[in-house]
Amino acid sequence: MIEYVSTRDPEQTPYNYNFVLMQGLAPDGGLYVPTSYPEISHDKLADLVERPYVDVFAAVNSLFVGDSMPLDKQRNLAEQAYATAKFPDAPGGNITPLRWLTDDIAIQQLSLGPTAAFKDMALQVLGQHFQHILGETGESLTMLGATSGDTGSSAEAAMKGLGHISLTMLSPEEGMSDFQKAQMAGFSGDNILNISVKGRFDDCQDMVKALKKEPEFAQLGAVNSINWGRVAAQVAYYVHGYTQAVEGDIGRLVDFVVPTGNFGNVLAGYIAKQMGVPIRRLIVATNENSVVDELIQTGVYSKPPKAHITSSPSMDITVASNYERIVADIFPNDPYAVTDYMRTFESKGIVYFREFGVPTDILYRMGFESGMSTHQNRLAAIRYAYDRSNTIIDPHTADAVTVALQEQMYNAAEHIPLVCMSTALPVKFEHTIREALGLVPERPARFAGLEERAAAKAGSFALIAAGDLKSLASLLRENTAH
Ligand SMILES: *Cc1c(COP(=O)(O)O)cnc(C)c1O
Repeated sequence: MIEYVSTRDPEQTPYNYNFVLMQGLAPDGGLYVPTSYPEISHDKLADLVERPYVDVFAAVNSLFVGDSMPLDKQRNLAEQAYATAKFPDAPGGNITPLRWLTDDIAIQQLSLGPTAAFKDMALQVLGQHFQHILGETGESLTMLGATSGDTGSSAEAAMKGLGHISLTMLSPEEGMSDFQKAQMAGFSGDNILNISVKGRFDDCQDMVKALKKEPEFAQLGAVNSINWGRVAAQVAYYVHGYTQAVEGDIGRLVDFVVPTGNFGNVLAGYIAKQMGVPIRRLIVATNENSVVDELIQTGVYSKPPKAHITSSPSMDITVASNYERIVADIFPNDPYAVTDYMRTFESKGIVYFREFGVPTDILYRMGFESGMSTHQNRLAAIRYAYDRSNTIIDPHTADAVTVALQEQMYNAAEHIPLVCMSTALPVKFEHTIREALGLVPERPARFAGLEERAAAKAGSFALIAAGDLKSLASLLRENTAH
């Protein structure tokens, strides 16, 4: 039965899925990882060809949940998370469909959910799992998070109105798109509280960290991408993407190209590969914030002084939080080495594999490749997709398509499908689409008039100063779950 340990725990104490889901970050500062990866056979993959997403999800996710929830309950929660009503624009009910741009390059659409970003794929089911566990234990969960864009609305859409749960999100007063702000404003009320901080994303994150150090708030839950439940949930759409890309020819190899920030999405692809899904390469695509691209190419993990603000803002990061889970595979069964490597990075802002006796190309050997794109590259990729196949892609997907086109130049003879993960709908980033194409993408009906509706909803964001923990604490006491 599947068990999890913290990457930094010298005792390697095992826990079950429910426990690590509720914990988020381990108390020792490490991340929870399975003690071994479950396997998925080719026969099982063949079974999942052309099945609806919830069937694929139920089969794959049960390998990670194990016996910590009854199987029929898991199925039931998945049905609620991925109900077709939440994905009204899914073609033929397929909520993660492929669309081919060329003979070899496809995009896999992951952003047809309630908030038009791929984070819905994991957070929808996380909300259901949280609520189920709390119902069993009779406990309640008060959550606090910081967001610079998609996590906020996606987490709020998933937690809105759920009993035993309250969610407070901090976001910077400036920096998010009007669309993103309006989305969050729409969720304010009931168990959801939005707080706007007069500062930047880093200020929001610092306030979350500072407040959690106070004993009264030590038990606050987390929705950010280091939660194992989010990573585990994402593995299912790699399986679904794989079976579609090979059209049932199980065993044929596929490459995935993944626009990457915190390394959450691509980590799920790596896990699918470890489980036996025939994935050849996991190709990481970054924007000008190329920390992970450099890490894969050079073996040096180096934190820049600050993030560039780019036209693919959900990837504007200086550290890749989930990377520690890969580090745990680089140093198998050696939590001391993992801790040492991560602490070196945390204290010096830079760490080299060679100091740890690890070859500099270890990530390549593990199946990773990478590339990066600039704003001009993204504009060109948006035009390319539009001209080639009449598809409007968002700027994050454009990062992936840029890198896929670079890869294809080297691999032209191989005809291995390159599946680019499409992580947001273009409607979220109208400004960049207009710059690339001179037009704005059509709005799905459910988002029509979003900004106007939000503007009419007065007081949907509380406003506090950066660093004002006193105001934050009193607002949180008012939005505590019962
Ligand atoms: C969060 C996000 C990403 C980055 O995903 P990670 O899991 O952090 O690597 C990419 N694109 C969009 C649109 C996002 O919202």
